[in-house]
Amino acid sequence: MTHQGKFSIIAIDGGAASGKSSTARAVAERLNLLHVDTGSHYRAITHFLLSEGIAAEAGPALDSALRALKLSTEVDGRVAVMLMAGRRCAPEDLRSKSVNAQVSQFAGIPAVREALFSYQRSQPIVAQSHGCEGIVMEGRDIGSVILPDAPFRFFLFADSNTRSARRAAEGQSDSISQRDALDSGRKTAPLLCPDGAVRIDTGSLSLEAVVDLICQRVEEECNETA
Ligand code: C5P
Repeated sequence: MTHQGKFSIIAIDGGAASGKSSTARAVAERLNLLHVDTGSHYRAITHFLLSEGIAAEAGPALDSALRALKLSTEVDGRVAVMLMAGRRCAPEDLRSKSVNAQVSQFAGIPAVREALFSYQRSQPIVAQSHGCEGIVMEGRDIGSVILPDAPFRFFLFADSNTRSARRAAEGQSDSISQRDALDSGRKTAPLLCPDGAVRIDTGSLSLEAVVDLICQRVEEECNETA
């Protein structure tokens, strides 16, 4: 068994287009883990709030919309999808221009982060109940705030040319450096390299090499402590 019967918890943090999602997806496939993309949670909430005509500022309208949120999880293969009132947010809505442009403003509001905190923390239990051998969760504050005891923490980064080229290849227009500046500069749960995280430059390695590196670390550790 890959994990020697242990439940592996892997936190992957990094800025926009740093390669987190492709990496986390491939690691989940290889090690039979549940993949949780917390960026999609902020995107889904942003889409919902924008569709309700709520602006990205703290206030009673935002508070009451957040209180009414009913979050649950649907597991699709090895991917955890957050549902709001039992419904998925469409992929094209998650990555729309308006969501790309405003998600970091919403994510900087403490009430928005609080609305997701317990939900995100409950994801390892979802993974266990679906027979996964662990969880790989990606975002900006996973190793620092959401899963601070995660035994495996990685921080992905890449140069700006590589990151822009990735978005262009996906046919997307995305304000990468603007979002990174807002995400790193906010007071609550800023984007940072968590203590003890392994830093990986995804601009100088292939996706396969990054995935190998992460999986080897997990497998070595599990074998050592078996
Ligand atoms: O990962 P992705 O680029 O889809 O994330 C979209 C936005 O969601 C980020 O720019 C950030 O503002 C917010 N986010 C966050 N904390 C996380 C994950 C995402 O603030 N853990």
